[in-house]
Amino acid sequence: MTKTIGAVTGVNGNMVTARAQGTVSMNEVAYIAAGSGAGAKRLKSEVIRIRGDVVQVQVFEMTKGIKIGDAVEFTDEMLSVELGPGLLGQVFDGLQNPLPKVAEATGNFLEPGVYLEALPRERKWAFTPAAKAGDRLERADLVGTVPEGSFTHRVMVPFQLLGTYSLKWVAPAGEYGVDEVVARLDDGKGKEIPLTMSFRWPVKRGVDCFAERLRPTEPMVTKTRIIDTFFPVGRGGTYCIPGPFGAGKTVLQQVTSRNADVDIVIIAACGERAGEVVETLKEFPELLDPRTGRSLMERTVIICNTSSMPVAAREASVYTAVTIAEYYRQMGLHVLLLADSTSRWAQAMREMSGRLEEIPGEEAFPAYLESVIAGFYERAGIVRLKDGSTGSVTIGGTVSPAGGNFEEPVTQATLKVVGSFHGLSRERSDARKYPAIHPLDSWSKYEGIMNREAVDYAHRFLSRGAEVGQMMKVVGEEGTSLEDYLVYLKGEFLDAAYLQQNSFDPVDCAMSPERQRHVFKLVLEILAAQIGASDKEDARSWFYRLRQGFLDYNGAEWRSERFSALEKDIRSLLAQRVKGADPRGSRLIERLE
Ligand code: ADP
Ligand code: MG
Repeated sequence: MTKTIGAVTGVNGNMVTARAQGTVSMNEVAYIAAGSGAGAKRLKSEVIRIRGDVVQVQVFEMTKGIKIGDAVEFTDEMLSVELGPGLLGQVFDGLQNPLPKVAEATGNFLEPGVYLEALPRERKWAFTPAAKAGDRLERADLVGTVPEGSFTHRVMVPFQLLGTYSLKWVAPAGEYGVDEVVARLDDGKGKEIPLTMSFRWPVKRGVDCFAERLRPTEPMVTKTRIIDTFFPVGRGGTYCIPGPFGAGKTVLQQVTSRNADVDIVIIAACGERAGEVVETLKEFPELLDPRTGRSLMERTVIICNTSSMPVAAREASVYTAVTIAEYYRQMGLHVLLLADSTSRWAQAMREMSGRLEEIPGEEAFPAYLESVIAGFYERAGIVRLKDGSTGSVTIGGTVSPAGGNFEEPVTQATLKVVGSFHGLSRERSDARKYPAIHPLDSWSKYEGIMNREAVDYAHRFLSRGAEVGQMMKVVGEEGTSLEDYLVYLKGEFLDAAYLQQNSFDPVDCAMSPERQRHVFKLVLEILAAQIGASDKEDARSWFYRLRQGFLDYNGAEWRSERFSALEKDIRSLLAQRVKGADPRGSRLIERLE
């Protein structure tokens, strides 16, 4: 089959219109030959609309050099990523160019028209065969393994090979590069298919080689108390973090990427400020994995597009990230994908939709915004693989709505599909109450690490306390009863001692589920307590001391002598004022044993 070619007939920002000679498919990759002589470039683009022989493509680069009449070469390949050993530890742009190598080659992160190999070609991997000649194999079946970082990387039959094959030959154990043939399949019709350790997969198609999709029933522990205890995230589930500029979305995701109980973290930094991304790139490799003490980067892949890169590349980065996540899930690993910020991606969609002159939906976002966002989050999931093991992709996305208004289309479309909602509030971040997740706006549909009823019991103190707080603004402290005032103080205490967590404290930044259960029980005791305070001032100063006690306690090494001593101090403080307990609260506490 001859390749389809075409010529540019119009340029509108990042959208280029061309007339094609031959067949073209949606989402096919096309290269535009822009400029001439030494300045000649082949710019990568993706087909986004076909009307007869008029084809529109979104270009992943600045389109400055493109002129009417420039040649377009259609590749007949969907926008794809390369999968194989060597992805971990890398920093890619949305088109899977390794950014450090781009910078090495060109002195610049943003050189247009430079496309580099995603996987290291020169590196050798210690291959161990896992299948033998004569085995019947299907897509995703195991051919062999190679060690990658601390994981066993599965070398699998490429996912796009449909049908059953018999294995003719597999390479003996030894060192191989990703381009070397390590197996040959026989398709039963006399054709031989050579396999290397890598293959390509179209980013917009979910990897679907598993046996069964399971329900996310187990929590994915983040070690952030307000999340794990109050608004948990399911392993293989989805969550979103909307919040105004500066409320702490990026910091929260960074803390989560370090501490979450997962094997692999994929970070899609799409379209946030360039300086911030460069900072991430500098900082991340220096961070140590709290689980292994080795560089965190060894189990991380960063896909990054800054706001100064062309908008179409943002979309590519989101899909590239989720495809890499699905690839590692297929190895029986638990993967967390963090996307920051999905609003930038949605803005890119809006821009392209405008150029296509589509009928706009709400706030000029395309009418298909919801289904595209839903389609992205639906690629999360916990699955049972054909060998019986399970793997998962959990997706957390930030949304940055203008002015922090959650009523806008991107936030709304996202909260319809996610299982947990962590709304950050300006009010809380201004008050430096971190993480600034608002406990009255947030929710979760997942089962967490704690008994639901006990959590609801505690949560009531937050909502009732906030009501009393509102009332006090009107009637003043004098107009409030001591009983109501105690509810208010308990709500404030729960917030300060448990919901807030210091991400910059080496101990407090990450609290194990075991410790959360222990501390939460103590907190419940305090919430359920009948406090024998003589007056409001007495109650206030007592709660103040309690709160201070918890600040030290939360910062003490779990189960250390200091931890026990501080807990003892807290207990003796309790003995001073606690006169009894609410029976319902006591029952719940007993059940937590
Ligand atoms: P966003 O991504 O929502 O725009 P950032 O995550 O970049 O916001 O946070 C903005 C600033 O707020 C940070 O640079 C930091 O100073 C402060 N901040 C955010 N989260 C925390 C936290 N958990 N603890 C302390 N400071 C924080
Ligand atoms: Mg941010």
